[in-house]
Amino acid sequence: MAASEDSLRRALVEKQSTIESQGNAVRALKASNADKKAVDEAIEKLNALKLEKSSIEKQLQASVGGNPGSSVSKEAFRQAVVNTLVGRLFFIPSFKIYGGVAGLYDYGPPGCAVKSNVLAFWRQHFVLEENMLEVDCPCVTPEVVLKASGHVDKFTDLMVKDEKTGTCYRADHLLKDFCNEKIQKDLSISAEKAAELKHILAVLDDLSAEELGAKIKEYGITAPDTRNPLSDPYPFNLMFQTSIGPSGLSPGYMRPETAQGIFVNFKDLYYYNGNKLPFAAAQIGQAFRNEISPRQGLLRVREFTLAEIEHFVDPDDKSHPKYSEVADLEFLMFPREQQISGQSAKKTCLGEAVSKGIVNNETLGYFIGRVYLFLTRLGIDKDRLRFRQHLANEMAHYAADCWDAEIESSYGWIECVGIADRSAYDLRAHMDKSGVPLVAHEKFSEPKEVEKLVITPVKKELGLSFKGNQKKVVEALEAMNEKEAMDMKSSLETKGEVEFHVCTLGETVTIKKSMVSISKEKKKEHQRTFTPSVIEPSFGIGRIIYCLYEHSFYLRSSKTGDEHLNVFRFPPLVAPIKCTVFPLVQNQLYEDVAKIISKSLTAAGISHKIDITGTSIGKRYARTDELGVPFAITVDSAASVTIRERDSKDQIRVNVEEAATVMKSVTDGNTTWADAWANFPHHSSGSAEE
Ligand code: AMP
Repeated sequence: MAASEDSLRRALVEKQSTIESQGNAVRALKASNADKKAVDEAIEKLNALKLEKSSIEKQLQASVGGNPGSSVSKEAFRQAVVNTLVGRLFFIPSFKIYGGVAGLYDYGPPGCAVKSNVLAFWRQHFVLEENMLEVDCPCVTPEVVLKASGHVDKFTDLMVKDEKTGTCYRADHLLKDFCNEKIQKDLSISAEKAAELKHILAVLDDLSAEELGAKIKEYGITAPDTRNPLSDPYPFNLMFQTSIGPSGLSPGYMRPETAQGIFVNFKDLYYYNGNKLPFAAAQIGQAFRNEISPRQGLLRVREFTLAEIEHFVDPDDKSHPKYSEVADLEFLMFPREQQISGQSAKKTCLGEAVSKGIVNNETLGYFIGRVYLFLTRLGIDKDRLRFRQHLANEMAHYAADCWDAEIESSYGWIECVGIADRSAYDLRAHMDKSGVPLVAHEKFSEPKEVEKLVITPVKKELGLSFKGNQKKVVEALEAMNEKEAMDMKSSLETKGEVEFHVCTLGETVTIKKSMVSISKEKKKEHQRTFTPSVIEPSFGIGRIIYCLYEHSFYLRSSKTGDEHLNVFRFPPLVAPIKCTVFPLVQNQLYEDVAKIISKSLTAAGISHKIDITGTSIGKRYARTDELGVPFAITVDSAASVTIRERDSKDQIRVNVEEAATVMKSVTDGNTTWADAWANFPHHSSGSAEE
């Protein structure tokens, strides 16, 4: 796709220059009073060239801005989806009667039902399948926890301010919008310029504050609302601060993620799990981020539901017992090398990516595969789902590897799930701050003889030389790793003294032979103690749901062709209501039958809705298609009813007593609509639809 866009841009530049030459030729002919036939022919040629140019422009426009599989523009498509979502109360801007607040949304009745179905499937697919330990921790978190995790110091985005009005913007978003707009709307830019802008988009997350600021200046980007100049980018902490209790002396924050609640409970969870690794803990809950300028509707909000898994594993063995179940999956993967070299994501076999070391380890690969299955079973289009590896700087320094599940929507590719191997960072950070050992043990079947490094600082000697700094020198000596210690030992033996840098003092001191003894001793050990590594899949539930809305939405013409009807093709798994029950016309007998069916649906645990309004059946079908209800039962006799499937509009006829059983089977996924279609008489009723 990139190649054809590239060649179209080149063709456009060439065509423009041919048009200019032809324009000159026409002018020259006119100036030389050439005969009319020659002038007309030259003009005709010019017009033909202009037509060719406009056709290239159209192709280029479609290649950079069209909605896949549709001629409707992305914005118009999005507007149709959002209008339906808002119109049918899937979501509502929060505090709407007071004007609303950017980045805060309510879920209305069908939105709540979809969310609860998605979460139920998440629990089934992850918590139940992997025997995870689910916890539920508070949103209000004391400062010390988020200080230890690094959020107080580093949970920031780069912000720029309108220098005159003070309005704030996210620096990377302004640069991203500029690049996208140029690529999509300025068809006159050269293929080289387009490639440069695309490269910036590819490495956007990798740019430092200085690099971002320099690009904003280079491209002359100004405040979008006023065109005023912008400040240099600077970090803004995204956490909502609060205080716990009335005194104001105990600072806290609304948690920006749920993970920390799991880390601080590691010791107890490990014990609960019989002191065995690997195990995973999971948490579903609200997260809060004071986003700088949330714009993309439900995609970037200030309070959202996260579903997070922390899988604790031995750092020396990151194999996974169920890895083979996902190794053969094939889907779009986008490793960092391909991003940097300007290629696009390619369909890749997961097992190959793991065996070639593109994905760091089996457990990380296992979760990537499970996330793929989760999202596609929900109804995410597999061709608009890719796994993108983080670029080197984008990834935290301690992380071993990191992949985002990105879903393509009308806003572009959106990070919906982050899957990271965070090594032992989080547990170490909380162990250092709290002093509580957050470690695991591996018991040896037989005691092992090991050589242990023993560093014994001679405190009396050190005290005489370093006085008040003695403690820091002792700590630094004890913290040496094996290589540092053995190097010091050999220097002390040959030279009698050695220069030693003490970080906590910020200076280099001289250590003499009499100040420390370093040796290796043989010891019998019964177990190994280590800090587990953590593999963390983190799901933004709201983002997944919004992308699902876009992937499920389509328009179909009414039978008369004069109206477009909105439909969500949700699978029964996520549909907010599984079926509707319609008496065909208002009459007591049909309503009584509808009530009997409703009772049996309730007993079978199937969410449904009765609509006894006298509205035409076609209108009632259209209303529920717009809610994505997959099946409609229409009562048109006392003995049997029809069941209509939403997307095909096909209908079967079943006995009243069978209706709930058939519904249960197809909505639970035990059978498919194709099975029902094969097993029951078909009902054809043109009149029923309209
Ligand atoms: P992070 O911890 O930043 O990797 O975020 C984890 C997940 O939370 C992401 O993959 C997103 O799906 C989701 N997420 C992050 N920020 C927001 C936001 N402002 N609004 C909605 N979802 C978000």
